[in-house]
Amino acid sequence: MTNGIQVAVIGGGCAGLSAAANLAERGYAVTVFEASSQLGGRARTIVVENKDLMQLLDNGQHILLGAYTETLALLKKVGVDENQVFLRQPLQINMQSAAEKSVFSLKSASFLPAPLNMLWGFLCCRGLSLSERIAALKLMRYLKNTQYEMIGDRPLEQFLISHQQTVRLIELLWEPLCLAALNTPIDKASTRIFLNVLRDSFTGSKTNSDFLLPRLDLSQIISQPLARFIQKKGGVIKLNQRIRHLQVEDNSFSLETRDGKSTFSHVIVAISPARIDQLLASLPKLERTLEAIQTYQYQPIYTIYLQYPAEIQLPTVMSGLSNTIGQWAFDRGQLCGQKGLIAVIVSAEGKHQKMKHDALALNVAKELNRAFPHLPKPLWHKVIAEKRATFACTPNLARPSNKTAQPQLFLAGDYTHADYPATIEGAIRSGIACADLIAKVKQ
Ligand SMILES: Cc1cc2nc3c(=O)[nH]c(=O)nc-3n(C[C@H](O)[C@H](O)[C@H](O)COP(=O)(O)OP(=O)(O)OC[C@H]3O[C@@H](n4cnc5c(N)ncnc54)[C@H](O)[C@@H]3O)c2cc1C
Repeated sequence: MTNGIQVAVIGGGCAGLSAAANLAERGYAVTVFEASSQLGGRARTIVVENKDLMQLLDNGQHILLGAYTETLALLKKVGVDENQVFLRQPLQINMQSAAEKSVFSLKSASFLPAPLNMLWGFLCCRGLSLSERIAALKLMRYLKNTQYEMIGDRPLEQFLISHQQTVRLIELLWEPLCLAALNTPIDKASTRIFLNVLRDSFTGSKTNSDFLLPRLDLSQIISQPLARFIQKKGGVIKLNQRIRHLQVEDNSFSLETRDGKSTFSHVIVAISPARIDQLLASLPKLERTLEAIQTYQYQPIYTIYLQYPAEIQLPTVMSGLSNTIGQWAFDRGQLCGQKGLIAVIVSAEGKHQKMKHDALALNVAKELNRAFPHLPKPLWHKVIAEKRATFACTPNLARPSNKTAQPQLFLAGDYTHADYPATIEGAIRSGIACADLIAKVKQ
């Protein structure tokens, strides 16, 4: 059934690897070309050398949701035991300010089914006035009645104001959720995509709103098991093989790397939209797609790792920070045994981009110290700045489909999964969708 079909997957991030795993499982001959020396793309682990100590750090602290059904199913298929690799906890937001003072806390009620678990959470949350809690509940009821759908799209902040959400409610609840989910400032973020994330998290099973926090480094959880699975099923993975040129030849594609050319019947281009220009430029049929992608804007994510003495812990594994540059702090000691290591995330654009890394790290350390006065000065710090971490998820953004105007060439990647912001789940779903398209073409 798969005779004659040779699939090249360009890019070994979550999208490319999920496409390759799916095709390899179906018996297709598949080769993954990855430009860098390791797989994983934006969800990868890096080795950091610090004072004779080699440490594995993720290029950004990632959080998954219980609603990431395709990701969890794929990981299970390739032999990853969810219970071992993730700490799963019911949605819980705890925003800290000075001196271990909680300014806001919301916890879903795990004893109730969805959506009652979240309604109860809103009703009982701390830090909001009764009228603010009622406003949040009214909005949740409205969203349920409209099935989280809207006609058209507009910036989330406008939408929330028009639904009587106060400044404080926006600051404490909606803005942190928007930044965590869409990595886009709330005055620019797409309401439609935000509602999709709420719908998937707050409806269906009550576990959909769970946070899944990685207990191991990301490569061990995602790219390595996927790569092993692909190779076991006969697929080939080529590292350090940037595709320099992609050309259509009769009924096939010629791919050029530094080692020469090879020919494939089908191609899945699974590279980030920020880097796709050069490859698609040689394909006239994709001119319009390329034009749409070129209008994209990007948002950064900074991860500030702060190493404290091994005995230092935060009160909880994940804490929100209020009115600070740092937005979320993760205790990597409790999470993955990296004792005394705290990762602080700063999503989306802001004044931190203008700061030198050392100054930013010291500033964030001071903020942490104000929220958790028991913290001493960090022993060392490392700032990882992903300047184009995700596309800016703005209203009415044109998202290309997986199928393109060029027969037998498909696009995979977080930006192609139109319902979602840039997430691992969007990337994995897009890869599977491309594999399905190739399998369908053949049948
Ligand atoms: C710091 C940070 C934090 C994040 N946090 C979260 C989170 O908490 N939860 C979540 O769900 N998502 C998060 N994301 C987003 C998530 O990581 C991405 O959406 C997802 O990894 C994108 O996967 P992808 O396969 O679409 O693209 P990529 O990961 O960008 O993969 C593309 C691959 O293509 C390769 N490539 C590029 N050009 C070529 C070429 N010419 N030839 C061959 N190979 C090439 C690249 O090296 C790369 O490996 C975060 C991202 C970052 C950067």
